Amino acid sequence: MSVYGWFCCTDCGTCLWLGKSISVETNNGWRLDQFHRGSTEEPPNWAREKLNRVIWRMLADHQGHCLRVLLDDEFEKLAETVEIREIGGESIGDTDIDDYIGSGRGFRPGNRVEGKGADEGLLASDSETLGCEDCRRGAYSGKWPPPERIGVHPDGPTFLHRCSVCGTYWDFDLRTARPITEKEARELYPGEFESQ
Ligand SMILES: [Zn+2]
Ligand SMILES: [Zn+2]
Repeated sequence: MSVYGWFCCTDCGTCLWLGKSISVETNNGWRLDQFHRGSTEEPPNWAREKLNRVIWRMLADHQGHCLRVLLDDEFEKLAETVEIREIGGESIGDTDIDDYIGSGRGFRPGNRVEGKGADEGLLASDSETLGCEDCRRGAYSGKWPPPERIGVHPDGPTFLHRCSVCGTYWDFDLRTARPITEKEARELYPGEFESQ
């Protein structure tokens, strides 16, 4: 039976699935050697740029929080005490990996890269540099209030939000969020800017 690992903020419940735990036998018995996501043909986790970016993003987003590596049984215990939000998960409240690292693809409904296998593809965009700590935390972690909702897309459900701290616009759908430029906000939600 495989045992899986999770990288978790035990304060916020934000988690990244690390994949299968692989142990090696040493003179002192079995020792956990590495985690591996996906099939054996997939490159090792450390060689996948997206996974690394998620981890570095988490380190910054959860500065001062308790980050732990948990195996299945410990993870289940955590899930009893805090609402889990999985990066790369498929439940409501989870965050898409691309959205999380702000790679700028697949944000519109029907054009979203989903699931634990969605590890390829990488494009840089504004979404990496937009927003402040406050709105990023609110949009991604779920423990803090998100940026204020100021508009609804007529063909939604997507929503325009704006951070009261830094003024950054955010495009929300039912399970993901990304920061956008004012130009993009005007293009996506022209109705919200008509009276101004
Ligand atoms: Zn945290
Ligand atoms: Zn902000």
